Amino acid sequence: LRSKASATHGKKDKQGEPVYPAPLEYFADLEGHFAISRRLCQNVREQGYVTATEVQLAALPLLIDSPERNLPREVAACSAVDDTQGIDLLTVAPTGSGKTLAFLLPLFHKIAQARRKEEKLQRRTTALILAPTKELVSQITNEARKLGANTGIQVAQVRKGMRLGHDRGTSGNDVGNESAVKVDILVAAPGTLHSILKDIDEEAAALQDVDTLVLDEADVLLDPLFREQTTGIWNRLSNPGLRVSLWSATMGSNIEELARSIIENRHKRLQTSDDA
Ligand code: ADP
Ligand code: MG
Repeated sequence: LRSKASATHGKKDKQGEPVYPAPLEYFADLEGHFAISRRLCQNVREQGYVTATEVQLAALPLLIDSPERNLPREVAACSAVDDTQGIDLLTVAPTGSGKTLAFLLPLFHKIAQARRKEEKLQRRTTALILAPTKELVSQITNEARKLGANTGIQVAQVRKGMRLGHDRGTSGNDVGNESAVKVDILVAAPGTLHSILKDIDEEAAALQDVDTLVLDEADVLLDPLFREQTTGIWNRLSNPGLRVSLWSATMGSNIEELARSIIENRHKRLQTSDDA
């Protein structure tokens, strides 16, 4: 199994080389070292997952940023995760290697922590997952719902004509059941979401709290067929703290360069607006 993780904005050593945390050794460490809630760990086990796959072992420590974590000193000392900033991550690992759980678990953990801190936290959409096909979008949504069972964290799949940013059931007179939603995690195909955002500016405002963007099958999302829609959505996410992770079974160097340049341009833009 070949897996490669590359991260930007993490900690650097004295030579300026990025420093990566040690991989996770056992799934069980999630609860002990990383302070993942008992409920989330139980939901992982209930799916019959006993040992973590190689990509999960490699990626989870990079993405789980837990102030409550209780890492052994040698692991904590080389954590790549900057506590305030997080990292952007590009992960390449074969089909069937368990990438979905590797991006879902850190998302759920982050949201669970935020909710624990502020009990009456108003529900905000803080995570957006993009995947190229409707089938993939429903698969991810299903897996996410299983992982999030009994956590109070809500996941929705973006459908055509859906209105974003409204609390479910309190949206008044203009909508049907699922047409207006405010959930923690949205899963969407780029075409569907892009057309919603294009029509109504208000909808882009509904994504202002998104601080985590996941591109699943990123090579497809950034190939010429979907590129414009994907980058269009990406560029409309206005949260300055946005972190992106890209997941793929294959990644041409041109796609990797494109991803890097989008991330770097964003940071430059934000820096200039900070200076102004
Ligand atoms: P990828 O996105 O890398 O192609 P998936 O996330 O779709 O892979 O996972 C492939 C299969 O492996 C799925 O059926 C999933 O339920 C299963 N799986 C994921 N993680 C584990 C694990 N730790 N142990 C056993 N099975 C797992
Ligand atoms: Mg996948």
